[in-house]
Amino acid sequence: MPDKVLKVAINTPLNRLFDYLPASAGAPPKAGQRVRVPFGRREQIGVVTEIADKTDVPINKLRAVHEILDPEPLLDTSLMELLRWAAAYYQHPPGEVFAAALPAGLRHGGRAESHQIFEWCITAAGRETNLALLAKRAKVQAALLEALLTEDSVSEATLRDINAGWRKIMTNLVDKGWVERIKVSEADNVSPESGPTPTDAQQTAVAAVAATGFQPCLLEGVTGSGKTEVYLQLIEQQIYAGHQSLVLVPEIGLTPQLIERFRHRVPGKVVAMHSGLTDTQRQNAWVAARTGEADVVIGTRSAIFCPLLRLGLIVIDEEHDNSYKQQDGFRYSARDLAVYRARQLDIPVILGSATPAFETLNNALEGRYRHLRLPARPGAARQPDMYTIDLRKHALQEGLSAPLIQAMQRHLDADGQVLVYLNRRGFAPTLLCPTCGTTEECRRCDARMVLHQTSNRLICHHCGAERPRPKTCGECGQELVAVGHGTERLEQAIEKLFPAYPLVRIDRDTTRKRGSMENMLNSIRSGEARILLGTQMLTKGHDFPNVTCVSIIDSDQGLFGTDFRSSEKLAQSMLQVAGRAGRGNRPGEVWIQTWYPDHPLLQTLLHEGYDAFATEALAQRRAALWPPFSHIALLRAEAPKREPLYQFLEQARQLAGTPANVQLLGPASSPMEKRSGRFRAQLLVQSADRGALRVFLPGWRYAIENISEARKIRWSIDIDPIELF
Ligand code: ADP
Ligand code: ZN
Repeated sequence: MPDKVLKVAINTPLNRLFDYLPASAGAPPKAGQRVRVPFGRREQIGVVTEIADKTDVPINKLRAVHEILDPEPLLDTSLMELLRWAAAYYQHPPGEVFAAALPAGLRHGGRAESHQIFEWCITAAGRETNLALLAKRAKVQAALLEALLTEDSVSEATLRDINAGWRKIMTNLVDKGWVERIKVSEADNVSPESGPTPTDAQQTAVAAVAATGFQPCLLEGVTGSGKTEVYLQLIEQQIYAGHQSLVLVPEIGLTPQLIERFRHRVPGKVVAMHSGLTDTQRQNAWVAARTGEADVVIGTRSAIFCPLLRLGLIVIDEEHDNSYKQQDGFRYSARDLAVYRARQLDIPVILGSATPAFETLNNALEGRYRHLRLPARPGAARQPDMYTIDLRKHALQEGLSAPLIQAMQRHLDADGQVLVYLNRRGFAPTLLCPTCGTTEECRRCDARMVLHQTSNRLICHHCGAERPRPKTCGECGQELVAVGHGTERLEQAIEKLFPAYPLVRIDRDTTRKRGSMENMLNSIRSGEARILLGTQMLTKGHDFPNVTCVSIIDSDQGLFGTDFRSSEKLAQSMLQVAGRAGRGNRPGEVWIQTWYPDHPLLQTLLHEGYDAFATEALAQRRAALWPPFSHIALLRAEAPKREPLYQFLEQARQLAGTPANVQLLGPASSPMEKRSGRFRAQLLVQSADRGALRVFLPGWRYAIENISEARKIRWSIDIDPIELF
């Protein structure tokens, strides 16, 4: 037996660690250091997770590490423990979990230090080139040059967005003398501005969280009630106490405005961590967090794996947001891991939301989390009034009812902005033959093709398939009619009704071009745009103080959902949209069009509020044994043919046997069985006892990996799934 065996996490899909011997010369590596190791016929970079004294590998098969890459452990013991725990809990290969904690450069063996950031600018000679001419033979060159024309300098991230192969092309342009690269000095620390005097409720919240030690707190308060001010106060206290803070925000919420707000208010160094950065920028932020140079790290989901030398506080803003759960590959929940990490480090963690996840609310109601509330908006702003419009009584004119049109007119006349919410892009969701009833379907999905009129094409919103719009029905030759409304169609209708008021439409189709979102947001902020039409993209995270009227065109999509979370998601998105009204000094109104004004869910939500709604829904979940009153995992599988798929799932079910305290349900087809040409089905694993699941899952997973058909099936296990398909 060797006296030391290194257990190394290597970035492969294999669900295990790999054993190596230390190099024959020099000191052996420590846990948390990266090593370069032989792997098959190549080399790989891995992280030493443990120094063991045993191995199951025959001693003559063990190979020695080639090189130790870090002088000191990169990942500290508590972060290592978090990663090990996450790999076990989420049933995910440890090598991929450890890779998730490293920036790209470090995954590939680079040194853990920060690098100079560069930007690019155009030279005088570059300005003289004829762009139109250049565009004819070198489109990308012209596009890159054009981006430089209007700015003093442009970041590498922006150039990367224009073309993934930008670096090579820019080298080319350097040779021509048209562009040059310049060093960027780091943003100087601005001297912090002082915030508003906190309200009593804010003071109470700050005092309650400030107590040290592990303490999960739910900070419930409507949008605009001053939650961010509470975070800022707490962060300031942490800085004076010598601690760092980690602030997690939803993907869509990490706007330049938010980062600027933190930079202006925090008496210390703020770094951001998100997917819009270049690898170098991300690594610099990571290094600053790890060395303790950064006082605040503000980032999206994956920032939960960032090493922080002196972490004292974790904040999760909009904690109910779906983007905290990764939906493919390593399917972790950053929110749940944040609570785990806070417990590990014995520090406070604060979960903020206007519409908390029912799991979180239940933790607060049952006393495991401290429940803090910010009741009213500070200053003059107050909650909007909400009205329903009964569509059984009012005819629709191009998707809009008369009371809604009147309300919009009133607010426009009074100089307000009007926000119109419809979470469906395109022109019409259905193209129908009025004679034979045939609809245009996607050939690869169980879904209808959506008509996009600007491009005059049918597009599947699930797989992206496209085809030209047919004029007539393929079955009977009749002319097809567009049924239902998407944002494109609504835009035309509203422009016809209110020709005098400039409209901006924000959805995935109108924001594809770089900079277009920013332009539209600017025209909203300046007051030039008066009608704001859009999907969820428009409603999340933005602050539009002049919006006084919000119209919800179709509230019914979520009322009859099949998922146990449908009603929760409906209530959350409705209140998020409603929260856009009356954020400034003027009171707001929310108008909701519905065919079911008497629906009990809607009634409770509108008349008694979110908490009452949640309490009712939680009682239903308790009766049906859905989370948080049980724990679930999902074995999802997909394959080009139906038969092998169900054989695989049947076999997986048999291999499970009859585990103690664990129920298996299925196989059942997914709500949308066919998608992108693949059939999809699943097995649901449920238990009232989380421990029982944790005992059952590893062995079951191992058995599934060894099903001979498993290789032909795409499958994954999702722990605590947020959607049942
Ligand atoms: P939330 O994070 O809950 O959406 P914010 O903290 O962003 O709310 O506050 C909303 C607005 O109210 C901001 O413009 C903020 O500056 C202002 N605000 C917050 N707290 C106070 C206060 N105590 N006094 C005056 N204005 C405040
Ligand atoms: Zn499709």
